[in-house]
Amino acid sequence: MAQIGIIGAGPAGLAAALLASRKGHNCTVFESAANPGGMAASFVVAGQRVDLGSHRLHPATEPHLLELIKQIMGDDLQIRERNGRINLRDRWVKFPLRATDLIRKLPTNVALRIGGETLTKRFRNSVETNFYESVQHRLGPTVAEEFYGPFAEKLYGVEPHQLTVEIAQRRIAATSGFDVIRKIAKATRSSGRVFLYPRDGYGSISERLADAVHDAGTELCFNSPITKLQAKKDSVAITSAGNILEFDQVWSTIPSPNLLAITEPSPPLETIEAARSLRNRAMVLVYLVIPRPQYTPFDAHYIPTTETIISRLSEPKNYRDGPDPSNQTVLCAELPCWKGDMIWNASPDELGELVSGDLQTMGLPDPQYIHVELKFLPSVYPVFEHSTSQARTTTQFASQAINRVVSFGRHGLGVPDNLHHVMRMGEHLVNSVSSDGELDSSKWDKALGSFAKHVVED
Ligand SMILES: Cc1cc2nc3c(=O)[nH]c(=O)nc-3n(C[C@H](O)[C@H](O)[C@H](O)COP(=O)(O)OP(=O)(O)OC[C@H]3O[C@@H](n4cnc5c(N)ncnc54)[C@H](O)[C@@H]3O)c2cc1C
Repeated sequence: MAQIGIIGAGPAGLAAALLASRKGHNCTVFESAANPGGMAASFVVAGQRVDLGSHRLHPATEPHLLELIKQIMGDDLQIRERNGRINLRDRWVKFPLRATDLIRKLPTNVALRIGGETLTKRFRNSVETNFYESVQHRLGPTVAEEFYGPFAEKLYGVEPHQLTVEIAQRRIAATSGFDVIRKIAKATRSSGRVFLYPRDGYGSISERLADAVHDAGTELCFNSPITKLQAKKDSVAITSAGNILEFDQVWSTIPSPNLLAITEPSPPLETIEAARSLRNRAMVLVYLVIPRPQYTPFDAHYIPTTETIISRLSEPKNYRDGPDPSNQTVLCAELPCWKGDMIWNASPDELGELVSGDLQTMGLPDPQYIHVELKFLPSVYPVFEHSTSQARTTTQFASQAINRVVSFGRHGLGVPDNLHHVMRMGEHLVNSVSSDGELDSSKWDKALGSFAKHVVED
């Protein structure tokens, strides 16, 4: 049995805490926020629970993890049919894509080009040195030019040629136009486009996980940021609110650069500088309160074009049958940006107007909102740039090398993963610890290798 300090009560930290305590380890969870959930938390806007951007539980979740979530959620986890749209060439097309809708909406010349490029993949240049080339090779120049190129530029804030092939592998499951056709065929059946969602918002998965962690006898310390970590030979000491606590191991889900910055002995200056050079795209979430029961019947609108500032618009009420106010709805617009840029620094009034204007430009109704709220996420998408590839490796290597400390989770590993992926990381970590409480490094290294194959679900 080991004494384990876990930093972060997002889904990764909570899953690890639950499974480790069920195995008899003695865990304590430290969370800087007042509530569990991290980026997968929910909160209230004008009497309605909303998420930090569009979140859904994907059927790709491994069956045993899904079972665990179902056990803690009971009947509150609903099976829903996706009902989204994507803006392609100024037209709204159903998303997930469906055959008949695509045929009706996609301009014939574009459809013919994509069809031709699907058939001629084997004649295309197969060299993939960056994100753009990777999409071009796999799905054809038209899909790269019309969809993934602009979308990547909008999400990551850099030209898609500057991004590495790895981000294409982590974000796009399809390796050919035929894979896309198979996906479209699947989504054409209603059973092929379902997702799971809790009636009280996505954050209730983490809240119930936190309850289960508490019931398993683990202490959860909220409002408790970890400000210092001292790695010793036989233990690790962490500092929270001036108190120093000793553990056999510390499992951290905080960003590696932040972890390195609070670690003693301090890593070499070059390592700290390498970690600081890694860029993360930020996001401002703009919540508009609308005094009518529904804005549109769609759960999400995906907007790849760089001509608007919104990357996705969601209407949380449409994700569930929940206890939401009947006479009003809330929209959530996701605005990718850089921390400190014009979007990040704009006022609620300015962003309300900008979002409302963008929606109407795209042919959506005037929201006529009565209230705006903003949420700021300083680090949402790790930017896998060629220019910082070496720095990324150095940072990961340094954070994994801290004695008795393991980094995992979305920020810990600097990856764009989903909730089910990070819960799986927590599970693998627990399974890599022997009954006498020692971490089996070769087992954990193997698990790290398997995480590299995760593909993000949108
Ligand atoms: C816009 C958007 C949409 C998404 N959509 C989906 C989706 O549809 N489906 C899906 O499954 N996933 C989705 N995700 C991903 C999902 O939110 C993440 O996978 C998940 O939240 C990662 O969990 P985590 O525990 O690894 O990290 P986090 O959730 O970031 O948790 C880390 C925790 O550590 C805490 N912390 C940080 N520093 C300290 C410190 N010094 N001391 C103590 N605590 C600290 C933070 O407060 C936080 O609570 C989406 C993410 C975004 C941004």
